[in-house]
Amino acid sequence: MAVPFRKTSKTKKRMRRTHIKLRVPGMVECPECGEMKLSHRVCKSCGTYKGRDVAK
Ligand SMILES: [Zn+2]
Repeated sequence: MAVPFRKTSKTKKRMRRTHIKLRVPGMVECPECGEMKLSHRVCKSCGTYKGRDVAK
């Protein structure tokens, strides 16, 4: 049932959102070194992207 947002207590709101954003979005494991990296970004630890070494 829809409840006006001001009627929902801070505690109730936080309890509902406890399972939201547990993980950092866009983080994937690097296939080269296994480190956590941002997806669609060059890996910071080994400097590869899509299996190619792009760091100079
Ligand atoms: Zn890597």
